Amino acid sequence: MTCVECGGEMEHRHVTTEEPLGGVRLRMENLPAWVCTRCGRREVSGPVLVALEALADALAAEAQLGGLARAPQSIRLATR
Ligand SMILES: [Zn+2]
Repeated sequence: MTCVECGGEMEHRHVTTEEPLGGVRLRMENLPAWVCTRCGRREVSGPVLVALEALADALAAEAQLGGLARAPQSIRLATR
């Protein structure tokens, strides 16, 4: 796999990253992702990203259903 940014080689690794998804900051530890060895660009596979976005949306919707004033600001996900 090559990097769309710089054309460098990408390797599959576990990373710790924080992404804003659906208005929620999602901190993920040991997330499998592709990382460019040249520019450091990170890419999470499509299906994983779609699932994470759905999770962030679900948590925000759940907070609203429960009458909570605001959605969760951050979610910590750790995979091992
Ligand atoms: Zn790159």
